[in-house]
Amino acid sequence: MKLRPWQLILLAMIAAVIVGSLINANMVTERNPVTEFTKTGALLVEIFDYIGNMFMALLKMIIVPLVFSSVVVGIAKLGGTDGFARMGAKTLGYYVLTSFIAIIIGLSMVNIFKPGLKDGKPNEAIAAQIESNKDAYADTIAKKVGDGGQDLDAVYDIFLRMIPQNIFEAFGSNGKMLSLIFLSLVVGIGLIFISEKGRGSLLGFFEGVNELSLLITNWIMLLAPIGVFALVAETTAQAGLPIVLILGKYFCVVAGALLLHLFVVMPLILTLLGRVNPFRHFYAMRNALLTAFSTSSSSATLPVTMRALQENAGVSNRVSSFVLPLGATVNMDGTALYECIAVIFISQVVTGGDMTLGQQLTVVMLSLLTSIGVAGVPSASLVAIVIIVNNLKIPNAEAVIGLLLAVDRPLDMLRTAVNVFSDSCGAVVIAKSEGEDVLTD
Ligand code: ASP
Repeated sequence: MKLRPWQLILLAMIAAVIVGSLINANMVTERNPVTEFTKTGALLVEIFDYIGNMFMALLKMIIVPLVFSSVVVGIAKLGGTDGFARMGAKTLGYYVLTSFIAIIIGLSMVNIFKPGLKDGKPNEAIAAQIESNKDAYADTIAKKVGDGGQDLDAVYDIFLRMIPQNIFEAFGSNGKMLSLIFLSLVVGIGLIFISEKGRGSLLGFFEGVNELSLLITNWIMLLAPIGVFALVAETTAQAGLPIVLILGKYFCVVAGALLLHLFVVMPLILTLLGRVNPFRHFYAMRNALLTAFSTSSSSATLPVTMRALQENAGVSNRVSSFVLPLGATVNMDGTALYECIAVIFISQVVTGGDMTLGQQLTVVMLSLLTSIGVAGVPSASLVAIVIIVNNLKIPNAEAVIGLLLAVDRPLDMLRTAVNVFSDSCGAVVIAKSEGEDVLTD
């Protein structure tokens, strides 16, 4: 029997959870100090980390040429600025609608289940865990988040950061995705207006770069089972199980809300807005979902998402190159939902009460706003959460966020899958509205 690539990736993931748990069982038991096996475990984790980073680096390597060439070609082919404005309006409408629905799901779940409270008071086990590690937690967060970007200015700066100081800066690092998109849009729009001769030769060149980038993405995905195995095994090996238990209710509320968005809201949107069969779309996006889940990075997954949309879902380059790269940083349903739950949870743990309606509305607005600015990299939400709690002046919030860090990775995996899937649904819905024949059944 010959396994298909996605089946191999799934098997790699299952094997990784088994291997990771075996290492974890020895690493986390304090009663069992450094044994031979533990040392081996630590070495294995280092090896997994190395291999996982190599896989991520390969994916990131292809982002710049792929995004630049496909956005330029996509825009230049939109045929005039009318098409551009129409697609832009639809895309933004979709982003705001789905992020808002996600936030409302998060808001409802955290208010119904109140994971930070127990019998109307702050959950004691959580409070005790924070109290005994307060400084360490606050320290970890300070190191992770750094000085910059802890207040709302960081959010407003987004437009300034979008414009690269020189064009090479836009190609510079993955954190600069918005500059890259901005430059690609300017070049793509410019191409519509220059002479036939100039447009023809440049378009031919960029089309070639685009084709080549997709081919290289295919090659990289041949290594996906190994990369995914390493990433997931490392994460499982390092999971802090005792803390997962203390935060069990919080974990379930976040995971439940994300799954609701992924398996109920998104299929409804696909069916109602796009008239598309959701099962077929899930199947078409299988590799992108698995990659998002293992890498926890929408940006690193972008090449895989683009390829899956174009090759499996039949969405044109014109639509996917417009909706996806922008969506990978701007449209983050899972992140917005997560920020909302995390901030209200922190307030429950710290104050023992519910937030006022006004405060909750602020959380909703800021979750929407900051999710737009969050980069598509692992744990990026934490920065946004720090911004929101600072804005609401919740005391000692840093220590609680430090505790949340302990369970962040598995939740990050899930919210990244939600982020990526929502982008892909947006592309399909918009492609349908533009008259393309995608996944109709
Ligand atoms: N890791 C997420 C992503 O790349 C962002 C986050 O919520 O931390 O989409």
